[in-house]
Amino acid sequence: MLSGLEIHDDRERMTKIYIYGVNWIGDAIISLSALEGIRQKFPEIPIIVLSPPRTSQIYELSPAATSVITFGDGKPLKTPRGSSSVVLCFPLSFRSAWNLWRSGFKNRVGFASEGRSLLLNRILDYKKWKNKHLHQSTYYRELAEAVLGPIPVEPARLRIPPDLLNKGQQFLLNNHFRDHFCIAINPGAYFGSAKMWPIRFYKTLIGKILEEFPNTAIILFSGEKDRHVTREISEAIRSPKLVSTDGSIPLNESIAILSQCHYLVSNDSGMMHIGAALKMKGVALFGPTDSFATGPMSKEICVLSHQVSCSPCFLRECPIDHRCMEFLTPEKVFLKIKDDMMEQKRFVGFRERFL
Ligand code: SF4
Repeated sequence: MLSGLEIHDDRERMTKIYIYGVNWIGDAIISLSALEGIRQKFPEIPIIVLSPPRTSQIYELSPAATSVITFGDGKPLKTPRGSSSVVLCFPLSFRSAWNLWRSGFKNRVGFASEGRSLLLNRILDYKKWKNKHLHQSTYYRELAEAVLGPIPVEPARLRIPPDLLNKGQQFLLNNHFRDHFCIAINPGAYFGSAKMWPIRFYKTLIGKILEEFPNTAIILFSGEKDRHVTREISEAIRSPKLVSTDGSIPLNESIAILSQCHYLVSNDSGMMHIGAALKMKGVALFGPTDSFATGPMSKEICVLSHQVSCSPCFLRECPIDHRCMEFLTPEKVFLKIKDDMMEQKRFVGFRERFL
């Protein structure tokens, strides 16, 4: 790490902490763990997140963030008052460092990558962190600790305000799901088709769930880009027990709806990380990615995968036969869901309500 800033654990001089947020939903959730650690250590210092539009609703739901300033999509990143405060540049891109440099922040801290070192005035060695093969949450924590000293290890958290929660509850009421065991299913993945469990497997799985557990309802989640997946499933399974957000519900409302569900089935995606931050029980289906590095930050979400020699490949599209996902059968996933549901029988009233 290079020097440049002398603010290490200096509460006298540090009046605000700025975070330049990341652009992917899953990464944003993972980064919340560092925000929670900073908040624990500095309960009174404002933490201000400078966020791209795509993830601003995530940061707005973080109880650790004091406020969120959204930029991009025509909204420039302006120099806020107090720009001498430290700003932690969470993304690795050249553009993020460039934006901070030209907006006038004086204490810009980030990992060295994409030839951007000259734009930052304290840099960390990215390759060194990468070679440690740790979970991605440690990347954000290491960045924060470089200037703030050790921070507690905290899980990512989301706090849903009452008005938003009300919208989530209303969605269930409107669909007559209030007395059902609601299973949230996120069958898409923005990153690419390689991360997606085959759609025909989702159809089989949903059919089995609805057949075996009649008091269950399914809510399909998607965004604009992967709504074709939920549409295909909805068209194949016409049932009053299945609804889809159809990629048309704002992210924060989708999170509120998700918070009302009892279980989550998801590909390795942003929704999986949101479910983990909401402390939901569920399963995450992994194929071409590494669950050790980017897996859910909650033991309540169980990772299911089928080991193949080419995994993890981190490719967006599979160049061969997608065996990492094709060998993870609906029967295997259903058995895990069934086990989890049966286990919940021990909770008073569960059987009466749902089974
Ligand atoms: S190359 Fe292997 S790990 Fe990558 S998507 Fe294809 S089957 Fe999965």
